[in-house]
Amino acid sequence: MRLELNAREREFRDRAADWLVKNVPAQARPPSGPDLVAFDREWQLRQYDGGWAGVSWPREYGGAGLSLTEQILWYEQCALFDAPEPGVFSIALGHAGPTLIVEGTEEQKHRHLGPILRGEQVWAQGFSEPGAGSDLAGLRTRAQLDGDELVVRGSKIWTTRAHLSDWQELLVRTEPGARRHRGLSFLIVPMDSPGIDIRPIVTMDGDTPFAEVFYDDVRVPVTNLVGRRGDGWKVAMTTLGFERGTMTLGSVIRLRRLIERVRVLAGERCDRRGRPLLADGETAARLADLESEAVALYALALAFVSEVVHTGRSASGTLIRPFFAELSQRVKRTAADLLGREGLSVDGSRQAAEIVPSYLYSFGHTIGTGTSEVQRNVIAERVLGLPRA
Ligand SMILES: Cc1cc2nc3c(=O)[nH]c(=O)nc-3n(C[C@H](O)[C@H](O)[C@H](O)COP(=O)(O)OP(=O)(O)OC[C@H]3O[C@@H](n4cnc5c(N)ncnc54)[C@H](O)[C@@H]3O)c2cc1C
Repeated sequence: MRLELNAREREFRDRAADWLVKNVPAQARPPSGPDLVAFDREWQLRQYDGGWAGVSWPREYGGAGLSLTEQILWYEQCALFDAPEPGVFSIALGHAGPTLIVEGTEEQKHRHLGPILRGEQVWAQGFSEPGAGSDLAGLRTRAQLDGDELVVRGSKIWTTRAHLSDWQELLVRTEPGARRHRGLSFLIVPMDSPGIDIRPIVTMDGDTPFAEVFYDDVRVPVTNLVGRRGDGWKVAMTTLGFERGTMTLGSVIRLRRLIERVRVLAGERCDRRGRPLLADGETAARLADLESEAVALYALALAFVSEVVHTGRSASGTLIRPFFAELSQRVKRTAADLLGREGLSVDGSRQAAEIVPSYLYSFGHTIGTGTSEVQRNVIAERVLGLPRA
């Protein structure tokens, strides 16, 4: 493992910092609606024009062609300069694009990768169904071959940003009679295809981050198959690998920044006797625990990157997601606790408006991308080699 930067990497980091100082938008990201999508699009395009979109994506598809080390340096600088997160492009950039780089045809790569980097394509992921979340191989949405098209019928649930998306990664059953994961295929589906009905789901903070999606004889060209027909499980595992590994790296780095902000909050807020909350030993110890766990998680992320860069693979990617998800929940819970009664409402101070929705959304961190329990099973079986439960 090598953790120190060489001269080329240091130069990259300094150039990134210089660009971010001049280009991070001054205005805050709008909370929702078309303004938010427009904001995210503009920020993505600005990064592309500056040569910073897809740092580790191949050059021939619009990326910068650098390694995962530069990618993590870019994430680090973005966190340091409070650059906006990928927002509506998180699925496109985090796993749809990376999956196509590994598994897509040339035609698919040219159709999607450049537009994703320029902020022209929002993507959604249609994997989960009622009754097939953790047990993904049990999914029932079918796609039947009809000439040179596949005809999709069924439904998906918890599809993040379905109502904002242009394209979808859709996992369907194509081989009748084949058992479970053997009969699946991975399709690219335009979200405006006739026969798609999207019904947003309202969450406890009043937002509609995901939707139920119904497919009523939706016709998809067979050229939109990623990988071979019936090989969708392998492609989906590639997607989940990116989702649980590299996609989480940026969030890990931003979590340290968030802890810093929570510490500032604890210094500003006072108890009834007018003492800063940070002067309370229990609060200070709680923050110190969070900080040390975040440092450990960051070290794990760096070890993962170093291993991937030098050997091409790493088992520790599997450990990052559940560790991050649970720590992130505790950080956000701590921030909400520091707000006291204000932490019970989204309509309070500016700080409450920022912290409370993020705290409420954090309940989903240990469910989305696979629950912590299921990921612990994966760690037990595939990393530690323990017998299957
Ligand atoms: C914020 C968020 C965003 C999401 N975005 C998307 C998206 O964009 N696209 C998409 O397709 N899906 C998405 N999902 C859905 C997510 O992938 C599923 O909710 C998740 O896989 C769990 O499936 P389930 O809800 O059906 O729960 P279940 O699988 O029914 O699990 C219920 C409980 O049983 C436990 N359990 C199940 N099996 C085991 C086992 N073998 N061992 C131990 N415990 C077990 C689980 O841990 C859980 O506690 C999202 C979910 C959330 C919360």
